[in-house]
Amino acid sequence: MEILNVELGERSYPIHIGPGEAARAECFTPVLEGRRVAVVTNSTVGPLYGERLRASLAAAGVRDEPLWIELPDGESHKSLATVEQILTRLLEARFDRGSRIVALGGGVVGDIAGFAAAIYQRGIHFVQVPTTLLAQVDSSVGGKTGVNHPLGKNMIGSFHQPRAVVIDTDSLQSLPTRELRAGLAEVIKYGLMQDADFFAWLEEHLDRLLALEPEALAHAIRRSCACKAEVVAADERESGRRALLNLGHTFGHAIETGMGYGAWLHGEAVGTGMAMAARMSARMGWLAPADAARAEALIHRAGLDTYPPAELDAARFRELMGIDKKVSEGRLRLVLLRGLGAAELTADFDDNALQHTLDETAR
Ligand code: NAD
Ligand code: MG
Repeated sequence: MEILNVELGERSYPIHIGPGEAARAECFTPVLEGRRVAVVTNSTVGPLYGERLRASLAAAGVRDEPLWIELPDGESHKSLATVEQILTRLLEARFDRGSRIVALGGGVVGDIAGFAAAIYQRGIHFVQVPTTLLAQVDSSVGGKTGVNHPLGKNMIGSFHQPRAVVIDTDSLQSLPTRELRAGLAEVIKYGLMQDADFFAWLEEHLDRLLALEPEALAHAIRRSCACKAEVVAADERESGRRALLNLGHTFGHAIETGMGYGAWLHGEAVGTGMAMAARMSARMGWLAPADAARAEALIHRAGLDTYPPAELDAARFRELMGIDKKVSEGRLRLVLLRGLGAAELTADFDDNALQHTLDETAR
């Protein structure tokens, strides 16, 4: 068991990491004791981990039986309509400003529940209990909450920091392999962007992560959360450094959108996007070819594709990345690598290097 802190002045909060954390009442007591609590979860995670959480909330001394809100599973439910249903349940139960929300699930549940907490009676405190690797290393930390709009993903939302994050590494044992690999892409991202030692650790221990070894998982999650917490503390609202967390994401978003949302998991697309960013960086002379090869090899070993699908030709890619001819130089900013562990945001990139990178697809 381990505690990291996200340092944000009066909005600082602990991240508890370890096996069985969600069963430890002490993780919840400071935020929830004596409070009325609504648990937001979904139809997959609730049946798996709801009872464990219910017991530790009771032991943490919450007031009354928690209000249990179980959403249907899936990104398609990450909508304002779902948020409104949650708000209705809270109002019907006469929750007040001192009440709390606990989000139990992956990033979808965390984003929805966090946004409901951000706007219910102008904001109530909430706790994240993330159950996917992606949510544990990324979405549960940092305070971005929100939902999708038919015209765009994550287009409605708010910054609202949780009061605690409780990461129970045991919950990953039931995670589908594909979701695990997608989460590993974001883990690898932290090594590539700012932590060369962690990158080297991942090269050595990736197989233990794929085998779901608890100690290795806890270590990887701790290092990832430490990276994210540091970036968020330095730039809570993404005016500068936080943009580096988008390594691989500009290429990745193009793949996600171009292949139709849901065909590729976000992390799968980010893995491919990071391999593309590494190759492009090498072409520009920013990254040693041997280091680009190490990045690609690690992404590949995590079970992720390193080349984009052949369906997406360079012209389509550019369209999806929002670079038509007119805005081609200048406007688009990409996160590239100056070295392993040294990401940099730049608008000043070599368009030929981009073109070559987009031209190489999987066969
Ligand atoms: P998800 O929440 O859809 O979870 C993936 C699948 O795994 C779901 O079917 C879920 O029910 C299931 N699941 C969750 N935990 C499980 C467990 N322990 N065992 C078995 N199955 C389990 O997807 P995700 O990848 O966790 O999150 C993606 C979402 O996160 C997207 O909506 C994305 O926009 C958002 N996100 C937000 C941020 C942020 O900063 N707020 C950052 C990254 C991603
Ligand atoms: Mg991401």
